[in-house]
Amino acid sequence: MALHLRGTVLPGGAVRDLWILGDRITFDRPHDPANTVVDGGFLLPGLVDVHTHPGGGDDSDAPRFDADLFAEQVAAHRDAGTTALRFPGLLGEVPAPSREAPDSPRMITAGRWLAWAGLSKSAGFHTVTDDLVAYAVAETKANDGWCKLMGDWDFEAAPVPYELLRAVVGAVHAAGGRVAVHCQSAEGVLGAARAGVDSVEHGMGMPEECVGLMAAHGTVYVPTLTAFARSAPKIKPSPRGTLWQEGHRTMVRRVREAHDAGVTVLAGTDSAPFGNVATEVEHLIAAGLPTEAAVGAASWTARDFLGLSGLTEGGLADVTVYAADPRREPGVLRHPRRIVLRGRVIR
Ligand SMILES: [Zn+2]
Repeated sequence: MALHLRGTVLPGGAVRDLWILGDRITFDRPHDPANTVVDGGFLLPGLVDVHTHPGGGDDSDAPRFDADLFAEQVAAHRDAGTTALRFPGLLGEVPAPSREAPDSPRMITAGRWLAWAGLSKSAGFHTVTDDLVAYAVAETKANDGWCKLMGDWDFEAAPVPYELLRAVVGAVHAAGGRVAVHCQSAEGVLGAARAGVDSVEHGMGMPEECVGLMAAHGTVYVPTLTAFARSAPKIKPSPRGTLWQEGHRTMVRRVREAHDAGVTVLAGTDSAPFGNVATEVEHLIAAGLPTEAAVGAASWTARDFLGLSGLTEGGLADVTVYAADPRREPGVLRHPRRIVLRGRVIR
């Protein structure tokens, strides 16, 4: 039986009736009776976290992919109303049962974290290669059209050379893919912004000129403020700690500047607890992003970026419903009243 929902449809803001047939949305009343599952409230295109690493991530010394942990952490995302996830780095392949389950969020993986062998050092979760171009193209093809590169690692050391980064971007784009780049040093962000990568992840210490470069290239900014806000109190006073704190302050400042320059800023948590993209929205707002843009960063804008439709005719049937307007009360994102994923009521 079709599902019927009525409420204020975002981001447009009109009160509308919509129906769900299978995994699609329609605004045309179907002939057969429908089951009304929402009557009132605010209907948001299902939430998105564009930077999360379920199944074991970059915070372990001896990382390995844990399929049970992956399923558990993905379920936490889903139960918070996060209906689509991008994995910019994963220790293993997305397990087929997770990808295919009707109650799993939509998943876009970039494969492994690729680290050029010339970086000053690497971490346990890196896949180190001296042939970054070939590996990046292969990962893009083997996954969901994305690859993930370490643009730098140690922020006191040299990043991936610009010419190499440029070659990767050219080859991946020629193969129809997109490149996400981890940057945590001024030089690393500058190289990524000049090379025209598709998304700058973190962007710690981002030089001011990057904002214009990213706007010109259509590069998206995913600052993952949640993860950095968690780390900040643990940074010990030292020359390196000072660099860290300065880089953090700069990245926070660039969020609003990037938005004002026309750069799309998106919400990614990059940390536990999973299913916490509402916190990232709050950090983005605290950094100066207008509230509507911050909510869109975890919903309609992120979906558009990932090629996932929102609440439009024929759109994918992911809806989260709230008692209040998240554009006025973003905290309400923590309390979805109803979650519809792939046309099924999850809650
Ligand atoms: Zn990450």
